[in-house]
Amino acid sequence: MFRSLRLGSLAGIDIYVHWTFLLLLGFFLLSGLAAGQGAVSALLNVAFVVTLFGCVVLHELGHALAARRYGIPTRDITLLPIGGVARLERMPRQPLQELVVALAGPAVNVAIAAVLAALLWPAGGWQGLLTGGSFLHKLLQVNVMLVAFNLLPAFPMDGGRVLRSLLALRLDYVRATDIAAGIGQAMAVLFGLMGLLVLGNPLLVLVGVFIFLGAGAEARQARIQPPDEQSQPLPATVADVMIRRVRTLPGYLRVDQVPEDYLRGGQRDFPVIEGERLVGLLRREDLLRSLASGHQRVGELATRQFPVAEMTEPVNGALARLADSGLATMPVLHQGRLVGLVQLRDADPRRWEDTVRGRNRTEETVEAV
Ligand SMILES: [Zn+2]
Repeated sequence: MFRSLRLGSLAGIDIYVHWTFLLLLGFFLLSGLAAGQGAVSALLNVAFVVTLFGCVVLHELGHALAARRYGIPTRDITLLPIGGVARLERMPRQPLQELVVALAGPAVNVAIAAVLAALLWPAGGWQGLLTGGSFLHKLLQVNVMLVAFNLLPAFPMDGGRVLRSLLALRLDYVRATDIAAGIGQAMAVLFGLMGLLVLGNPLLVLVGVFIFLGAGAEARQARIQPPDEQSQPLPATVADVMIRRVRTLPGYLRVDQVPEDYLRGGQRDFPVIEGERLVGLLRREDLLRSLASGHQRVGELATRQFPVAEMTEPVNGALARLADSGLATMPVLHQGRLVGLVQLRDADPRRWEDTVRGRNRTEETVEAV
């Protein structure tokens, strides 16, 4: 099922629109018609929403291009009914850089508003500003509103990032984030209550929920990542993701002689050794199946077709081979010696980060029966 529609790309960044955004356009069209507007005026409403979201795209592009100056790429920009999201690879950890990136979005809307004001000024169009007035008047108004709304200190909205970066100039980064996130969550609750009880606006409730969850997630994130490792790339070699405590089985062993604790541990499948040589891989499911029926030997049961990785090779290629093999486990060799295992579930990026930091680092131990 498609979730986002690609509109094209600007400055090398793909722009997507989420399918629910089309629902919003339909809603504006139908509610305009239902309110007794003519087709032209209803279509004009839709055109207005499209233009408004064009301004939102430019706002997000402001963030993305500012981040690019600091060497941070943007994966894409997606339009949702509640606004736009630029998916930056990361936020700069330098407070002043984050300040610039956060302000770059609203600055675009300030610029748009300034251009519109300059256009409307000679026509004496200032009166129209308060009463709503023409298409351009309304566009000027919403750009001013976008600036005001985004600069509310509701972390992780732009104003909240401005707040966090200013706090981080003086305070520890994690502490600064906690304070900004606390204020952000309080504001999110306020948005939710306003949307629910005062304005009857479900979008505002939704925005509140997003801010609340986003603030919590970022606060946790800031705590996990120590500053010096913030910009460290994910691990690059097989050694970074492999488990180092490996249990092996000799080929001559009967399956009913396999120690019971082999089945209770976190190791899924078992390398099979003959002499010093790695000759096979015994899959856990094959082992369990044959335990019931009889006295087969590990060597007969093991698969001889399995991928292996070299400890120093790049992890991506190795994982691709493992995925292609249909197996879940890949023995890792170094200078011909078995030194570890890559199991697909250990290849979870969240765990890689732990591994890189050495929390899971254990000495290589190959345990044999
Ligand atoms: Zn923004």
